[in-house]
Amino acid sequence: MAECIFCKIIEGEIPSFKVYEDDWVLSFADINPIAEGHTLIIPKKHVRNLWEIDEESLTAVHLASIKIVDAMRESLQTTGVAALQLNGEGAGQEVDHYHLHLIPRLKDTPPLPVARWKITPGDMDKVAGTAEKIRSAIR
Ligand code: AMP
Ligand code: ZN
Repeated sequence: MAECIFCKIIEGEIPSFKVYEDDWVLSFADINPIAEGHTLIIPKKHVRNLWEIDEESLTAVHLASIKIVDAMRESLQTTGVAALQLNGEGAGQEVDHYHLHLIPRLKDTPPLPVARWKITPGDMDKVAGTAEKIRSAIR
């Protein structure tokens, strides 16, 4: 994928602050960190999102996330780590190469907005109806 910035990082055409690498994945610092230690993990194979990724790449990304989260917990004394992954324009995905964000939470850092939405009970008929719509589409 010649135009993909994350593929260019994998190829070494764009520099990155590497955190971890194996045969399947690369992990590097996000250069626009929303928190100290904000890190991305990407599969080396170019796939855009959760409906394109192959099982090996998906597994490798998430197994690597355990190693990196362990390292964050030890090196940054985190109080928690948010794992965030966006798919598609409508979800706010800006780089079209699958990536998992790992966002450490440190003592005294405020909660992430995405982790603190207002809890409002739903209309149970609608909740059930939509769940059924999704369930019946599962293949
Ligand atoms: P998303 O909105 O989930 O697609 O997030 C894309 C992320 O990639 C953003 O947090 C960007 O800051 C990050 N990003 C974009 N270009 C680079 C780069 N060259 N090196 C590191 N992170 C990047
Ligand atoms: Zn790519």
